[in-house]
Amino acid sequence: KKSNPCPICNNITGHCKYSPLNEIILCHNFDIDVSGYKFVKKTRGGHWGVFVPERDYKATLDPETVLLRAERELERKRLQEQKQAVSLSDSERHIEHTKLIDQLSLNFGDESDLKRRGLTDEQIKKGGFVSVKQWQKLREYVNPNLAGVNVSGKGLTNFHDGLLCFAKNPKGEITGYQIRVSDRTVNSKYV
Ligand SMILES: [Zn+2]
Repeated sequence: KKSNPCPICNNITGHCKYSPLNEIILCHNFDIDVSGYKFVKKTRGGHWGVFVPERDYKATLDPETVLLRAERELERKRLQEQKQAVSLSDSERHIEHTKLIDQLSLNFGDESDLKRRGLTDEQIKKGGFVSVKQWQKLREYVNPNLAGVNVSGKGLTNFHDGLLCFAKNPKGEITGYQIRVSDRTVNSKYV
């Protein structure tokens, strides 16, 4: 998570990108004059303004080179994030799924439904079933690299209300879940 504000626009949401040493800053703003920094140009997609510290700007004769470096940095970050997103091990996923179970609960309707389908109280307890509302909010932070968790780690990305049904590996670690959609009119019961 970004805690340092963007040196150009002071935004702390983490939407602007900058390398740890601030050699290149990619800011969503273009028309800002910030002392110590120089606007180089927009990225090709037009999403970012590329800024460099003034001292580096003087040393860099070619804005194209700066842009290339910036785009390479963006690509590197994107790949790194992608790699992180799939890199949670089974035991790490188990820990994050357990955080979900600990802070959510099973509502009466879903519990009755499970019982109607023949599950015992013990099976229900062991299964760790929990009910979720659309865009379920979380009190406790969960690693955003876990599938279904939003970027802030404080909510889920589920569109439908439903029931989380967890899957375990042979070691008993909770490695994933499906959402059983409460709304019976939704085409696929599991999402
Ligand atoms: Zn910015």
